[in-house]
Amino acid sequence: MADELEHKFEVEILEREGRQKLPDDVKEELKSSGMMDEKGKLKLKGVSPKMLKRMKQEYVECPVLKDQIHFIQCFVCPNFQSRVMGKVLCKGDKL
Ligand code: SF4
Repeated sequence: MADELEHKFEVEILEREGRQKLPDDVKEELKSSGMMDEKGKLKLKGVSPKMLKRMKQEYVECPVLKDQIHFIQCFVCPNFQSRVMGKVLCKGDKL
């Protein structure tokens, strides 16, 4: 069960209108790990186009980075464990 996963934080996933821009350094990271092509199109395994569209409007108030983080950045973060009922289970390790 998800709630048996070891995690430090449950971070609520928030949503805003319109697309958000990913920071350039995050884009570079995604590209180097093969999750984004040269044109900036995201290629996330197991994520449907519909889901991806939704993810692009989501963000979290990250308790580790103490900043608003684009959900896509959170999704690929080493601390990300899973998404359960509108929340991210976050390991909470220092980044
Ligand atoms: S998984 Fe990473 S980006 Fe997401 S809330 Fe945790 S530390 Fe922040």
